[in-house]
Amino acid sequence: MRLDIIKADTVSQIKAAVKETLYGKYKDLLPVDLNTKVIVKPNLNSYMNALTGNTTDLRLMAAVIEFLKDMGYSDITIAEGTNSGFYRNNISVINRLTVDKLAGFYGVHIKDLNYSDTVEVEFEGGVKAGIARVCAEAGLFINMPKLKTHFEAGMSVCLKNLMGCLVGQTNKKKTHQSLFENIVNLNTALRPHLHIVDGVVSMEGLGPTRGTPIKTSVVLIGTDPFVIDLVCSQLASFDYTNIGPLRAAQKRGLLTQERLEFAKTFPLDRTFLFKPPRAGLLAGFIHNPKRQRYFLAIRNTAVFRYLCSTQIGGKLLYKSGLRQDVFVKDAMQHQGLTLDPAMCNNCGKCAGYCPVDLPLPHALSAPAPQCIQCLYCYCVCPASAIVFKGTLGFMQEQNAQYEALIKGFA
Ligand code: SF4
Ligand code: SF4
Repeated sequence: MRLDIIKADTVSQIKAAVKETLYGKYKDLLPVDLNTKVIVKPNLNSYMNALTGNTTDLRLMAAVIEFLKDMGYSDITIAEGTNSGFYRNNISVINRLTVDKLAGFYGVHIKDLNYSDTVEVEFEGGVKAGIARVCAEAGLFINMPKLKTHFEAGMSVCLKNLMGCLVGQTNKKKTHQSLFENIVNLNTALRPHLHIVDGVVSMEGLGPTRGTPIKTSVVLIGTDPFVIDLVCSQLASFDYTNIGPLRAAQKRGLLTQERLEFAKTFPLDRTFLFKPPRAGLLAGFIHNPKRQRYFLAIRNTAVFRYLCSTQIGGKLLYKSGLRQDVFVKDAMQHQGLTLDPAMCNNCGKCAGYCPVDLPLPHALSAPAPQCIQCLYCYCVCPASAIVFKGTLGFMQEQNAQYEALIKGFA
């Protein structure tokens, strides 16, 4: 078992510390064959960007890809199977988070795991579910979850992140009758070689999508998902027995004395008091594991699915807390970012957030063809000196919920 916690905030700190740790302490885990297939699996749960605490930070993905390229790997793929609602609504979260542009910048591949060949995994009750073959057969599989709360699971970190390896809605649905046990089943079938947790900006409160970002400024790198999730529960000051996948792992005897002891004695310089993910009354009642199967039986009927697909039905579900996401269909029309020099106070914050290290803010004084349009700089600028040209589309929803919070902690 190995685990390291790095403190980092800015892109230069993240890249330097991640590369140094991987090179110094984890190089022996890397395959000798430089042509092997490398899969990097972030959490791209929704189109809310990393600064909301929802999805894996592009700066961290950039750090890992730069390291892998420096080591000489030639076949690197960023792969994720976004949650069912976006898939059903035909919304590409990968594109909306500009992960495709990040991949283009580095010359690596991108794969939507919802459209993959499958291999079967045994779930509870004799059910078999299809996971992405590329993950199961990768020569190097790196799990890159977000550190966040989750209203059903308690927390979502390494163990829960593998749900994105289930192919399409049909296979994802198969987890739900025994969600936590099946998350453990996924983790005993798929064994990533390395876990790199994005805790730079985490999420507390009503995660995984409607919580609040909390600046925790850490990256965890390790080999054992059970231990890392235990340590993350300590970092958030949560009792691990309230975290569904860890409870299921304990029932199965996977939280051995060695794992519990390692986590308990792991030195943490600082812990945080995360607000717990308390669902509203209705959502809490329905999502209780004792009742959820009745809800699922209704949810899976054609009539209910139709009602949910209407705008009014979707809004009602969101307002009631039964649905965490609003699936805004409007795409963003991005016609460029420019700098308003009269507004800029040269605080330098934007430069710490650019995943591709553009020399901000001055790089925006002229067209910047290398910009991957992630809008991190735009989100953090306290003086609103970075001007967006075009139509924000779905991004308006993020701004309405998170703009002040992000500018507040950045
Ligand atoms: S964050 Fe805004 S105000 Fe600060 S340097 Fe960048 S553009 Fe200027
Ligand atoms: S300049 Fe801004 S929008 Fe462009 S890649 Fe850098 S942080 Fe993202």
